[in-house]
Amino acid sequence: MKRRHLLVGAAALATGATTAAVLGGKPENKNRQITRTEGTTNPGPNISPNIGKNRRQFRLVTSWPKDFPGLGIMANRLADFVGTMTEGRIEIKVYAAGELVGATEVFDAVSTGAADMYHSAEYYWQGKAKGFSFFTAVPMGMTATEIVGWVNFGGGRALWDDLSAKFNIKAFHAGNTGHQMGGWFKKEINSLEDFKGLKMRMPGIGGEVIRRLGGAAVRLSGGEIYQALQSGAIDATEWVGPWNDYAFGFYREAPYYYGPGFHEPGAALSLGVNLDVWNSLSSSDQAIFKAACHAANDLSVGEYTHENAKALKILKDNHNISPRVFSEQIWDKIGRISEEVVAEIGNSDKQTRAIYDSYIKARNSYRTWTEISDGAYIRARAAALR
Ligand code: CA
Repeated sequence: MKRRHLLVGAAALATGATTAAVLGGKPENKNRQITRTEGTTNPGPNISPNIGKNRRQFRLVTSWPKDFPGLGIMANRLADFVGTMTEGRIEIKVYAAGELVGATEVFDAVSTGAADMYHSAEYYWQGKAKGFSFFTAVPMGMTATEIVGWVNFGGGRALWDDLSAKFNIKAFHAGNTGHQMGGWFKKEINSLEDFKGLKMRMPGIGGEVIRRLGGAAVRLSGGEIYQALQSGAIDATEWVGPWNDYAFGFYREAPYYYGPGFHEPGAALSLGVNLDVWNSLSSSDQAIFKAACHAANDLSVGEYTHENAKALKILKDNHNISPRVFSEQIWDKIGRISEEVVAEIGNSDKQTRAIYDSYIKARNSYRTWTEISDGAYIRARAAALR
Protein backbone atom coordinates (compact mmCIF):
# COMPACT_ATOMS: atom_id res chain seq x y z
CA MET A 1 0.00 0.00 0.00
CA LYS A 2 1.05 3.58 -0.37
CA ARG A 3 2.86 4.97 2.66
CA ARG A 4 1.06 8.29 2.34
CA HIS A 5 -2.32 6.62 2.77
CA LEU A 6 -1.11 4.74 5.81
CA LEU A 7 0.01 7.93 7.47
CA VAL A 8 -3.21 9.73 6.66
CA GLY A 9 -5.19 6.84 8.11
CA ALA A 10 -3.10 6.57 11.22
CA ALA A 11 -3.18 10.29 11.86
CA ALA A 12 -6.94 10.42 11.43
CA LEU A 13 -7.37 7.60 13.91
CA ALA A 14 -4.99 8.99 16.48
CA THR A 15 -6.51 12.45 16.48
CA GLY A 16 -10.09 11.75 15.56
CA ALA A 17 -11.33 8.48 16.85
CA THR A 18 -9.31 7.69 19.99
CA THR A 19 -10.17 4.40 21.65
CA ALA A 20 -13.46 3.88 19.91
CA ALA A 21 -12.02 3.37 16.44
CA VAL A 22 -11.25 -0.28 17.01
CA LEU A 23 -12.91 -1.58 13.90
CA GLY A 24 -11.79 0.29 10.83
CA GLY A 25 -9.17 0.97 8.15
CA LYS A 26 -7.87 3.98 6.31
CA PRO A 27 -9.91 6.88 5.05
CA GLU A 28 -9.64 7.15 1.30
CA ASN A 29 -11.93 9.25 -0.82
CA LYS A 30 -12.19 6.79 -3.68
CA ASN A 31 -14.04 4.47 -1.32
CA ARG A 32 -16.72 7.02 -0.86
CA GLN A 33 -19.29 5.52 -3.15
CA ILE A 34 -22.23 7.75 -2.41
CA THR A 35 -22.07 11.50 -2.30
CA ARG A 36 -24.22 12.74 0.50
CA THR A 37 -25.71 16.13 1.01
CA GLU A 38 -23.05 18.47 2.32
CA GLY A 39 -23.72 21.31 4.69
CA THR A 40 -26.95 22.28 6.35
CA THR A 41 -28.07 24.88 3.85
CA ASN A 42 -27.96 22.80 0.70
CA PRO A 43 -30.68 20.15 0.69
CA GLY A 44 -29.01 18.28 -2.18
CA PRO A 45 -30.41 17.06 -5.43
CA ASN A 46 -33.61 15.50 -4.10
CA ILE A 47 -35.65 18.59 -3.42
CA SER A 48 -39.38 18.09 -3.51
CA PRO A 49 -41.96 20.91 -3.75
CA ASN A 50 -42.91 19.96 -0.17
CA ILE A 51 -39.45 20.81 1.09
CA GLY A 52 -40.69 23.41 3.55
CA LYS A 53 -43.34 21.12 4.99
CA ASN A 54 -42.28 18.93 7.91
CA ARG A 55 -38.68 19.48 6.97
CA ARG A 56 -36.25 18.16 9.55
CA GLN A 57 -32.50 18.40 9.92
CA PHE A 58 -30.63 16.02 12.18
CA ARG A 59 -27.07 15.80 13.41
CA LEU A 60 -25.61 12.29 13.21
CA VAL A 61 -22.42 11.98 15.27
CA THR A 62 -20.20 8.98 14.59
CA SER A 63 -17.29 7.16 16.22
CA TRP A 64 -15.43 7.01 12.90
CA PRO A 65 -12.95 9.19 11.05
CA LYS A 66 -14.46 11.02 8.08
CA ASP A 67 -15.51 8.76 5.19
CA PHE A 68 -13.76 5.81 6.85
CA PRO A 69 -13.90 2.69 4.59
CA GLY A 70 -16.65 0.40 5.81
CA LEU A 71 -17.72 2.11 9.02
CA GLY A 72 -17.80 5.79 8.07
CA ILE A 73 -19.28 4.98 4.67
CA MET A 74 -22.09 3.06 6.41
CA ALA A 75 -23.15 6.21 8.24
CA ASN A 76 -22.95 8.31 5.06
CA ARG A 77 -25.00 5.73 3.19
CA LEU A 78 -27.66 5.65 5.90
CA ALA A 79 -27.99 9.44 5.76
CA ASP A 80 -28.30 9.28 1.97
CA PHE A 81 -31.00 6.61 2.12
CA VAL A 82 -33.14 8.66 4.48
CA GLY A 83 -32.59 11.83 2.45
CA THR A 84 -33.54 10.13 -0.80
CA MET A 85 -36.50 8.23 0.62
CA THR A 86 -37.94 11.45 2.07
CA GLU A 87 -37.12 13.42 -1.11
CA GLY A 88 -34.82 15.65 0.89
CA ARG A 89 -37.44 16.45 3.54
CA ILE A 90 -35.27 14.84 6.20
CA GLU A 91 -31.66 15.86 5.97
CA ILE A 92 -29.03 14.13 8.08
CA LYS A 93 -25.65 15.78 8.45
CA VAL A 94 -22.94 13.27 9.32
CA TYR A 95 -20.16 14.31 11.69
CA ALA A 96 -16.90 12.38 11.96
CA ALA A 97 -15.44 11.62 15.37
CA GLY A 98 -14.09 14.81 16.88
CA GLU A 99 -16.08 17.21 14.68
CA LEU A 100 -18.90 17.78 17.18
CA VAL A 101 -17.97 15.34 19.93
CA GLY A 102 -15.29 12.70 20.42
CA ALA A 103 -15.66 9.10 19.28
CA THR A 104 -16.72 7.80 22.69
CA GLU A 105 -18.84 10.83 23.55
CA VAL A 106 -21.51 10.20 20.93
CA PHE A 107 -23.70 8.18 23.30
CA ASP A 108 -23.93 10.93 25.93
CA ALA A 109 -24.43 13.55 23.23
CA VAL A 110 -27.48 11.69 21.87
CA SER A 111 -28.75 10.75 25.32
CA THR A 112 -28.83 14.41 26.39
CA GLY A 113 -30.04 15.73 23.03
CA ALA A 114 -26.81 17.59 22.23
CA ALA A 115 -26.89 15.52 19.01
CA ASP A 116 -29.87 13.73 17.43
CA MET A 117 -28.36 10.34 16.57
CA TYR A 118 -25.12 8.36 16.60
CA HIS A 119 -23.56 5.69 14.41
CA SER A 120 -21.28 3.56 16.55
CA ALA A 121 -20.94 0.15 18.22
CA GLU A 122 -23.02 -0.67 21.29
CA TYR A 123 -20.20 -2.49 23.08
CA TYR A 124 -18.49 0.84 23.63
CA TRP A 125 -21.22 1.56 26.22
CA GLN A 126 -20.42 -1.44 28.41
CA GLY A 127 -19.27 1.05 31.06
CA LYS A 128 -22.87 2.36 31.17
CA ALA A 129 -24.49 -1.08 31.20
CA LYS A 130 -22.90 -4.49 30.61
CA GLY A 131 -25.81 -5.64 28.45
CA PHE A 132 -24.81 -3.36 25.56
CA SER A 133 -22.00 -5.74 24.53
CA PHE A 134 -24.51 -8.35 23.39
CA PHE A 135 -25.85 -5.98 20.72
CA THR A 136 -22.44 -5.74 19.00
CA ALA A 137 -20.53 -8.98 19.54
CA VAL A 138 -19.30 -11.27 22.30
CA PRO A 139 -16.69 -14.06 22.11
CA MET A 140 -18.09 -17.27 20.62
CA GLY A 141 -21.26 -15.32 19.94
CA MET A 142 -23.56 -14.89 16.95
CA THR A 143 -22.62 -14.28 13.33
CA ALA A 144 -23.82 -11.28 11.33
CA THR A 145 -26.83 -13.25 10.12
CA GLU A 146 -27.70 -14.80 13.46
CA ILE A 147 -27.78 -11.49 15.35
CA VAL A 148 -30.32 -10.13 12.84
CA GLY A 149 -32.46 -13.16 13.68
CA TRP A 150 -32.18 -12.62 17.43
CA VAL A 151 -32.88 -8.88 17.45
CA ASN A 152 -35.76 -8.97 14.96
CA PHE A 153 -37.37 -12.32 15.70
CA GLY A 154 -35.80 -13.86 18.81
CA GLY A 155 -36.66 -11.39 21.59
CA GLY A 156 -33.60 -9.10 21.33
CA ARG A 157 -35.60 -6.07 20.16
CA ALA A 158 -37.66 -5.60 23.34
CA LEU A 159 -34.62 -6.13 25.59
CA TRP A 160 -32.59 -3.61 23.61
CA ASP A 161 -35.44 -1.08 23.71
CA ASP A 162 -35.71 -1.42 27.50
CA LEU A 163 -31.97 -1.00 27.93
CA SER A 164 -31.59 1.98 25.58
CA ALA A 165 -34.72 3.72 26.89
CA LYS A 166 -32.99 4.07 30.26
CA PHE A 167 -30.63 6.42 28.44
CA ASN A 168 -33.33 8.13 26.35
CA ILE A 169 -32.20 6.34 23.17
CA LYS A 170 -33.78 4.03 20.57
CA ALA A 171 -31.22 1.97 18.64
CA PHE A 172 -31.17 -0.18 15.50
CA HIS A 173 -28.55 -2.27 13.78
CA ALA A 174 -27.20 -0.33 10.83
CA GLY A 175 -24.08 -2.17 9.70
CA ASN A 176 -21.95 -5.20 10.37
CA THR A 177 -18.28 -5.94 9.69
CA GLY A 178 -18.99 -9.63 9.18
CA HIS A 179 -16.54 -12.11 10.66
CA GLN A 180 -13.38 -10.51 12.01
CA MET A 181 -9.98 -12.21 11.86
CA GLY A 182 -8.05 -13.66 14.79
CA GLY A 183 -5.16 -11.28 14.30
CA TRP A 184 -1.57 -10.72 13.26
CA PHE A 185 1.24 -12.39 15.24
CA LYS A 186 5.03 -11.99 15.13
CA LYS A 187 5.45 -15.72 15.73
CA GLU A 188 3.55 -18.90 14.95
CA ILE A 189 0.88 -19.89 17.47
CA ASN A 190 1.05 -23.66 17.67
CA SER A 191 -0.04 -24.41 21.22
CA LEU A 192 -1.61 -22.82 24.28
CA GLU A 193 1.94 -22.24 25.62
CA ASP A 194 2.44 -19.66 22.86
CA PHE A 195 -0.15 -17.37 24.50
CA LYS A 196 1.86 -17.23 27.74
CA GLY A 197 3.30 -13.76 28.09
CA LEU A 198 2.00 -12.74 24.65
CA LYS A 199 1.27 -9.02 24.53
CA MET A 200 -1.70 -8.64 22.23
CA ARG A 201 -3.78 -5.63 21.29
CA MET A 202 -7.28 -6.89 22.01
CA PRO A 203 -10.04 -4.69 23.38
CA GLY A 204 -13.07 -5.55 25.49
CA ILE A 205 -14.25 -9.00 26.46
CA GLY A 206 -11.85 -10.70 24.04
CA GLY A 207 -9.02 -9.06 26.00
CA GLU A 208 -10.14 -10.84 29.16
CA VAL A 209 -9.96 -14.17 27.29
CA ILE A 210 -6.37 -13.38 26.24
CA ARG A 211 -5.50 -12.62 29.89
CA ARG A 212 -6.94 -15.95 31.03
CA LEU A 213 -4.85 -17.71 28.37
CA GLY A 214 -1.81 -16.24 30.13
CA GLY A 215 -1.24 -13.30 27.81
CA ALA A 216 -1.46 -9.56 28.35
CA ALA A 217 -4.29 -7.70 26.63
CA VAL A 218 -3.27 -4.23 25.51
CA ARG A 219 -5.78 -1.51 24.64
CA LEU A 220 -4.66 0.68 21.77
CA SER A 221 -6.55 2.88 19.34
CA GLY A 222 -6.25 2.02 15.64
CA GLY A 223 -3.64 4.66 14.91
CA GLU A 224 -1.34 3.42 17.67
CA ILE A 225 -1.18 -0.24 16.66
CA TYR A 226 1.38 -0.21 13.84
CA GLN A 227 4.01 1.64 15.85
CA ALA A 228 3.42 -0.62 18.86
CA LEU A 229 4.10 -3.66 16.66
CA GLN A 230 7.17 -2.00 15.19
CA SER A 231 8.68 -1.06 18.56
CA GLY A 232 7.93 -4.46 20.10
CA ALA A 233 5.52 -2.97 22.64
CA ILE A 234 3.05 -5.62 21.45
CA ASP A 235 3.60 -9.06 19.87
CA ALA A 236 0.24 -9.35 18.15
CA THR A 237 -2.90 -7.44 17.27
CA GLU A 238 -6.44 -7.98 16.13
CA TRP A 239 -8.16 -5.29 14.08
CA VAL A 240 -10.96 -6.21 11.64
CA GLY A 241 -10.36 -8.30 8.53
CA PRO A 242 -8.19 -8.24 5.39
CA TRP A 243 -9.76 -5.03 3.98
CA ASN A 244 -9.14 -2.83 7.00
CA ASP A 245 -6.04 -4.73 8.21
CA TYR A 246 -4.19 -4.45 4.90
CA ALA A 247 -4.69 -0.70 4.93
CA PHE A 248 -2.65 -0.47 8.12
CA GLY A 249 0.16 -2.68 6.83
CA PHE A 250 0.31 -5.01 9.84
CA TYR A 251 1.60 -7.83 7.59
CA ARG A 252 5.00 -6.13 7.49
CA GLU A 253 5.55 -6.39 11.25
CA ALA A 254 3.56 -9.48 12.23
CA PRO A 255 3.27 -11.79 9.20
CA TYR A 256 1.46 -14.74 10.87
CA TYR A 257 -2.21 -14.08 10.15
CA TYR A 258 -4.72 -16.22 12.01
CA GLY A 259 -8.39 -16.51 11.36
CA PRO A 260 -11.22 -16.60 12.02
CA GLY A 261 -11.40 -14.62 15.24
CA PHE A 262 -13.27 -15.91 18.26
CA HIS A 263 -13.96 -12.47 19.71
CA GLU A 264 -16.00 -10.64 17.04
CA PRO A 265 -17.81 -13.19 14.87
CA GLY A 266 -19.91 -10.42 13.27
CA ALA A 267 -19.55 -7.02 14.93
CA ALA A 268 -22.82 -5.12 14.55
CA LEU A 269 -22.86 -1.34 14.27
CA SER A 270 -25.81 0.74 15.35
CA LEU A 271 -27.82 3.88 14.76
CA GLY A 272 -28.90 5.26 18.14
CA VAL A 273 -31.60 7.95 18.00
CA ASN A 274 -32.52 10.33 20.82
CA LEU A 275 -35.83 8.94 22.09
CA ASP A 276 -37.59 12.34 22.02
CA VAL A 277 -36.49 12.78 18.41
CA TRP A 278 -37.66 9.25 17.60
CA ASN A 279 -41.07 9.81 19.19
CA SER A 280 -41.46 13.08 17.29
CA LEU A 281 -41.24 11.27 13.93
CA SER A 282 -44.39 10.20 12.10
CA SER A 283 -44.94 6.47 11.80
CA SER A 284 -44.05 6.65 8.10
CA ASP A 285 -40.79 8.47 8.85
CA GLN A 286 -40.00 5.90 11.54
CA ALA A 287 -40.58 3.19 8.94
CA ILE A 288 -38.16 4.98 6.59
CA PHE A 289 -35.47 5.05 9.28
CA LYS A 290 -36.00 1.36 10.04
CA ALA A 291 -35.80 0.44 6.35
CA ALA A 292 -32.67 2.56 5.92
CA CYS A 293 -31.02 0.78 8.86
CA HIS A 294 -31.89 -2.67 7.48
CA ALA A 295 -30.55 -1.64 4.07
CA ALA A 296 -27.32 -0.25 5.53
CA ASN A 297 -26.85 -3.45 7.53
CA ASP A 298 -27.42 -5.69 4.55
CA LEU A 299 -25.17 -3.71 2.19
CA SER A 300 -22.31 -3.56 4.68
CA VAL A 301 -22.29 -7.36 5.03
CA GLY A 302 -21.99 -7.63 1.24
CA GLU A 303 -19.41 -4.87 1.06
CA TYR A 304 -17.18 -6.47 3.69
CA THR A 305 -17.41 -9.82 1.89
CA HIS A 306 -16.41 -8.22 -1.41
CA GLU A 307 -13.62 -6.00 -0.06
CA ASN A 308 -12.17 -8.61 2.31
CA ALA A 309 -11.88 -11.08 -0.58
CA LYS A 310 -10.09 -8.49 -2.74
CA ALA A 311 -7.65 -7.54 0.03
CA LEU A 312 -6.98 -11.18 0.91
CA LYS A 313 -5.93 -11.85 -2.69
CA ILE A 314 -3.50 -8.93 -2.59
CA LEU A 315 -2.07 -10.15 0.72
CA LYS A 316 -1.60 -13.63 -0.74
CA ASP A 317 -0.37 -12.71 -4.22
CA ASN A 318 1.77 -9.67 -3.45
CA HIS A 319 2.88 -10.23 0.14
CA ASN A 320 2.93 -14.01 0.50
CA ILE A 321 0.52 -14.01 3.45
CA SER A 322 -1.43 -17.25 3.95
CA PRO A 323 -4.00 -17.16 6.73
CA ARG A 324 -3.68 -19.93 9.32
CA VAL A 325 -6.22 -21.45 11.67
CA PHE A 326 -5.66 -22.03 15.39
CA SER A 327 -5.40 -25.70 16.37
CA GLU A 328 -8.39 -27.57 17.75
CA GLN A 329 -6.74 -27.62 21.18
CA ILE A 330 -6.50 -23.82 21.14
CA TRP A 331 -10.08 -23.43 19.94
CA ASP A 332 -11.34 -25.77 22.69
CA LYS A 333 -9.66 -23.74 25.40
CA ILE A 334 -10.69 -20.38 23.91
CA GLY A 335 -14.25 -21.64 23.64
CA ARG A 336 -14.43 -22.73 27.27
CA ILE A 337 -12.83 -19.55 28.62
CA SER A 338 -15.05 -17.37 26.40
CA GLU A 339 -18.19 -19.05 27.74
CA GLU A 340 -16.99 -18.43 31.33
CA VAL A 341 -16.14 -14.78 30.74
CA VAL A 342 -19.37 -14.03 28.88
CA ALA A 343 -21.41 -15.78 31.60
CA GLU A 344 -19.72 -13.69 34.30
CA ILE A 345 -20.60 -10.50 32.44
CA GLY A 346 -24.07 -11.83 31.70
CA ASN A 347 -24.75 -12.37 35.38
CA SER A 348 -23.59 -8.96 36.56
CA ASP A 349 -27.11 -7.57 37.16
CA LYS A 350 -30.77 -8.42 36.54
CA GLN A 351 -31.21 -6.59 33.23
CA THR A 352 -27.94 -7.92 31.79
CA ARG A 353 -28.98 -11.42 32.91
CA ALA A 354 -32.21 -11.16 30.91
CA ILE A 355 -30.27 -10.07 27.81
CA TYR A 356 -27.61 -12.76 28.31
CA ASP A 357 -30.21 -15.51 28.77
CA SER A 358 -32.09 -14.47 25.63
CA TYR A 359 -28.87 -14.12 23.61
CA ILE A 360 -27.44 -17.50 24.63
CA LYS A 361 -30.78 -19.25 24.10
CA ALA A 362 -30.98 -17.81 20.57
CA ARG A 363 -27.33 -18.57 19.78
CA ASN A 364 -27.70 -22.18 20.88
CA SER A 365 -30.88 -22.54 18.89
CA TYR A 366 -29.41 -20.96 15.73
CA ARG A 367 -26.25 -23.08 16.01
CA THR A 368 -28.19 -26.23 15.24
CA TRP A 369 -29.34 -24.72 11.96
CA THR A 370 -26.23 -22.72 10.98
CA GLU A 371 -23.90 -25.67 11.51
CA ILE A 372 -25.82 -28.02 9.20
CA SER A 373 -26.54 -25.30 6.61
CA ASP A 374 -23.82 -22.62 6.14
CA GLY A 375 -21.22 -24.54 8.14
CA ALA A 376 -21.67 -27.87 6.38
CA TYR A 377 -22.08 -26.31 2.94
CA ILE A 378 -18.93 -24.22 3.20
CA ARG A 379 -16.88 -27.25 4.27
CA ALA A 380 -18.41 -29.40 1.51
CA ARG A 381 -17.88 -26.73 -1.16
CA ALA A 382 -14.28 -26.27 -0.13
CA ALA A 383 -13.65 -30.03 -0.35
CA ALA A 384 -15.48 -30.48 -3.65
CA LEU A 385 -13.81 -27.56 -5.41
CA ARG A 386 -10.31 -28.17 -4.09
CA1 CA B 1 -11.87 -5.87 16.04
